[in-house]
Amino acid sequence: MTDWTRASALEMSAALRAGTVTSVELVQAHLDRIAGVDGAVHAFLHVNTEDALAVAASVDADRAAGVDLPLLAGVPIAIKDILVTKGMPTTAGSKILEGWMPPYDATVTSKIRQARMPILGKTNMDEFAMGSSTEHSAYGPTHNPWDLDRIPGGSGGGSAASLAAWEAPLAIGSDTGGSIRQPAAVTGTVGVKPTYGGVSRYGAIALASSLDQLGPCARTVADTAALHEVMGGHDVMDATSLDQPVPSCLDAARDGATNGLKGVRVGVVKELGGDGYQAGVKQRFEEALDHLRAAGAEIVEVSCPSFVYAMGAYYVILPSEASSNLAKFDSVRFGLRVERDTIEQTMGATRAEGFGDEVKRRLVLGTYALSAGYRDAYYGSAQKVRTLIQRDFVAAFEKADVLVSPTTPTTPFKLGERVDDPVAMYLNDIATIPANLAGIPGMSLPSGVAPEDGLPVGFQILAPAHEDARLYRIGAALEKALVAEWGGSLASMAPELEVTR
Ligand code: GLN
Repeated sequence: MTDWTRASALEMSAALRAGTVTSVELVQAHLDRIAGVDGAVHAFLHVNTEDALAVAASVDADRAAGVDLPLLAGVPIAIKDILVTKGMPTTAGSKILEGWMPPYDATVTSKIRQARMPILGKTNMDEFAMGSSTEHSAYGPTHNPWDLDRIPGGSGGGSAASLAAWEAPLAIGSDTGGSIRQPAAVTGTVGVKPTYGGVSRYGAIALASSLDQLGPCARTVADTAALHEVMGGHDVMDATSLDQPVPSCLDAARDGATNGLKGVRVGVVKELGGDGYQAGVKQRFEEALDHLRAAGAEIVEVSCPSFVYAMGAYYVILPSEASSNLAKFDSVRFGLRVERDTIEQTMGATRAEGFGDEVKRRLVLGTYALSAGYRDAYYGSAQKVRTLIQRDFVAAFEKADVLVSPTTPTTPFKLGERVDDPVAMYLNDIATIPANLAGIPGMSLPSGVAPEDGLPVGFQILAPAHEDARLYRIGAALEKALVAEWGGSLASMAPELEVTR
């Protein structure tokens, strides 16, 4: 009997169309898998059993009746708990939203429903997407399926772990400074942050509005491409949404896998590598460059000198925007309310009890950075650095069609190891943050395991704004070469989890 949880989303789509499997069977197989392993992994905060099966049954009925259905109709998906979902609890990993039932759908949620994809549930995340390990979730951490004692990345650790644990073939993430790409890197999966504005943010609980972007997560490049096309597109409900056609991601992935990379210039960013990067991470990165060369690409070195200030600028801009965005959690409008004598006291007590330490740390920092007398010194300076980083990218993209680097400096670390050391935690995103500051698209795909610890390593590809298709072309070409070398996908090489039910 076929274990459908091991198939790719596009394989599931083909099997559904060929009639060799039903959507109900696919959804049930994933629900069984979740029941069997999620006690140990804890990728899900909410499992949407009845609704997922009902959607699957309606898709099967329509297919039997000959209705023309979208490509991914009937293929199940997991959604990060940052996206509001009507009739399904949405917490953003925070206690302050415990029990909140959104009265509406995010635009991306609606698109998933229109694509007739059964939603398996909501995935765990660091509270309000602040973190790199999911240890800042108010509901306990997610565990990395490669080694349950290690972090699955963050903030979207739940989405990435659900893929690596075969609990879902597709997932949605959000990336403000790396929360799609870093979890993908440390779980041996694929994650894409689209161009800023390429995917509607309406109904995505805001962390830092000038940096946030939703994106696709999967185990293969082509699957992320297919999901990107479902998620993308202009939305009048989001003032920053780009009024442009959705990029042809799937065609680009097929082109890269079929035709190679002749004439493509790949720029290695000098500042993203070297000191502080684990030896095995650097080794796998160099080997990936060899594969790109063999596929016909030309490798050039580029320098982006302002990147050394990216972290500093990010940790002023993000807390500033977050302190404004999170002001709405005031005990009146949503979720938790801790009653006191006056409304001021009630608001204070609610926020004191509802927010975790990392959120409070950033709200204090952001409020301070925006206060009179400091705004120009901190926020103003950070915005200037942002411009310098954007200029570095413009110059680099004159020399290269895409830029590449390791996604993270190290393989996944142990749970508990950095949770009390914010700076060590922040350093995970040193290579991913520049893309958010510039609004450009980026992908992380698996480039093997580090020889010293056998844990996954991610390869990052960055493209100019609006050129998301390039990520898929280069990513698919590299993936094809690596999968041929490994004799299978990296995901299939993870140790088997014990099934408890
Ligand atoms: N880890 C980064 C942070 O803590 C990125 C978060 C994100 O992309 N949402 O801010």
